[in-house]
Amino acid sequence: MTDSIHFSFEEMWEKIMACDRKYDGLFYTAVKTTKIYCRPSCRSRKPKKQNVEFYYHIQAAETAGYRACKRCQPETEKSPEAALVHDVILFLAKNYKQRLQLKDISDHVGISTFYLERVFKKETEETPRTYLDRIRTDKAAYLLKHTAMTNLDICHEAGFHSPSNYYKIFRRLKGCSPSEFRNEGALPDEMG
Ligand SMILES: [Zn+2]
Repeated sequence: MTDSIHFSFEEMWEKIMACDRKYDGLFYTAVKTTKIYCRPSCRSRKPKKQNVEFYYHIQAAETAGYRACKRCQPETEKSPEAALVHDVILFLAKNYKQRLQLKDISDHVGISTFYLERVFKKETEETPRTYLDRIRTDKAAYLLKHTAMTNLDICHEAGFHSPSNYYKIFRRLKGCSPSEFRNEGALPDEMG
């Protein structure tokens, strides 16, 4: 199990452009021109790419002189249940490459699998399993668009443990096959 999250700048940039809530709490967007930091899902006007830097911890952003955004309130205290779910999400984001069973996750946060599923569903409206599928699918989508890796390599790199699983889950979440997704064309920000 690794101890840190590794998102590239491009991955984080894509997530903030999509206002993707499922990465809230995993990193923060700091804008050099306004000295404000935000959650990835913040709906405030998007900064210019060259003015953005990312932090994995609030404290680091604040030490660097950034203040919390009034709109998305990234520093707000969480309820105990939300804090627990955040721990689970952090664990999934760090360990998506591993073969994870529900019990590994519940052991990590020190609760029963039953309580884990219930509290996770209440906070996120999905299960830890489907959440993990989405993290893996996002990783695969990123690699398809930004690297020349083969589908088999991407399958393993994104934590899918069999190609059939990879193709099935990818298609369910993205509505097309990995190869179709890759051939859709370059993202606009790659043009310049
Ligand atoms: Zn904000």
